[in-house]
Amino acid sequence: MSTVAIINPATEVAIAHIEAAGTAELDAAVAAARAAFPSWSRVVPADRARLLRRLAGLVEDHAEELALLETRNVGKPLGDSRGEVGSVAEVFHFYAGAIDKHTGATIPVAGGVDMTFHEPMGVIGAIVPWNFPIAITTWKVAPALATGNTVVVKPAEITPLTALRLGELALEAGLPAGVLNVITGKGSVVGSRLAAHPGVAKIAFTGSTEVGREVMRSAAENITRITLELGGKSANIIFADADLESAARGAAAAVFGNAGQDCCARSRILVERSAHDRFVELLVAATDAVRVGDPEAPGTDMGPLVSAAHRRTVAGYLDGVDIAHRGHAPEGPGFWFPPTVVLTADRRARVATEEVFGPVVCVIPVADEAEAIEIANDTPYGLSGSVWTRDVGRALRVARGVQSGVISVNSNTSVRVATPFGGMKQSGLGRELGMAALDAYTELKNVFISTAP
Ligand code: NAD
Repeated sequence: MSTVAIINPATEVAIAHIEAAGTAELDAAVAAARAAFPSWSRVVPADRARLLRRLAGLVEDHAEELALLETRNVGKPLGDSRGEVGSVAEVFHFYAGAIDKHTGATIPVAGGVDMTFHEPMGVIGAIVPWNFPIAITTWKVAPALATGNTVVVKPAEITPLTALRLGELALEAGLPAGVLNVITGKGSVVGSRLAAHPGVAKIAFTGSTEVGREVMRSAAENITRITLELGGKSANIIFADADLESAARGAAAAVFGNAGQDCCARSRILVERSAHDRFVELLVAATDAVRVGDPEAPGTDMGPLVSAAHRRTVAGYLDGVDIAHRGHAPEGPGFWFPPTVVLTADRRARVATEEVFGPVVCVIPVADEAEAIEIANDTPYGLSGSVWTRDVGRALRVARGVQSGVISVNSNTSVRVATPFGGMKQSGLGRELGMAALDAYTELKNVFISTAP
């Protein structure tokens, strides 16, 4: 196996060297998960729940260690990593509590009794990106294990550390060997083999739309089930009657959080023309207030980008673009990038339509509600978004009119453990989190029993 250096993006220093698995190791991981499936799927729900609660407890006991590992691997502020690790424990607790509430139905039919069962699928392949490694791993692993499946996780090659540690904690919690497997390695080698593997029942993929398309193609070979959580170019729609101060603070957090490397980043701000200039003033002040620096220092709001290559990609979106304002960023070492504001009336500009995945926001003036909805929907994406207004009727009209899987009113949040999360259009297929994820990791079986004498 070849070895990959894992780099701290804030220092550019290697913090670990990881063996990159190949297809032989992937096949062995799938075989282990297949071998563990029959007995794991027969463990009664209450016992599976007990093991998941024990794992949640171990995550809580090791919260600081996991948060530091995530921060050093991804470059995100320690406060954010602590929040994400806290949510990991919450997700395991949620599915431990949900599993025995996912019941079937009895359906009145002629000639007998008809009933439904939610059957586990088998081996789930979980393919995870680098921006929220432990959180997104858990969104897949917790409901998949709760419903009686076994799992092979493939973290992003540059951020495998917390997933590997989670695998160790799962064994310590008492999950039988083979139930949760973590495999490192390149997406083009290990990831594509996992998606095409005849021994895998379902792929739960989070990543770019481009790779999602490839995963869908690979899965087609065996009609492997898929959930896809893909990219976004979400709109933040701000009307003149909104609390503009909160909207501007929320807008900065919604696009500079995680250094903009967030599928839900509201990277297009559509602001009602009459409020445009005042809003931009407030947004510039909020941009200057973003503290960019050492992710381990208290009070840091934004760390570096994840890698030098990714920084080049983000910078490429600004070639030839008029930059209205730039916040602060440290000098190197570290893959720093300042929070950046672009003002444009050109809604079709590349920076205004493609997923930049960095701390860059475009502000576009709009005439009214109808134009805001039209521009919001004028991309192939449909993941997230916000609407800011004091008019509840308008809030609901716009929320319903925007084609996205998740939208928040007077808020910049997208994710809650108990609610479904996922995208419309080219932002994805299927939903994660909430009770919806239990359906996503089970097949519905229908059994008819004749009562004919
Ligand atoms: P990516 O698509 O490059 O990689 C994602 C994962 O897929 C990695 O583990 C990678 O190794 C693997 N992979 C790469 N090629 C593969 C192949 N041919 N077959 C199978 N697997 C392969 O994405 P990334 O750069 O790690 O993450 C950023 C992207 O993820 C952004 O587009 C972002 O919007 C998206 N994302 C979406 C969500 C969501 O929930 N919708 C959440 C986070 C990130």
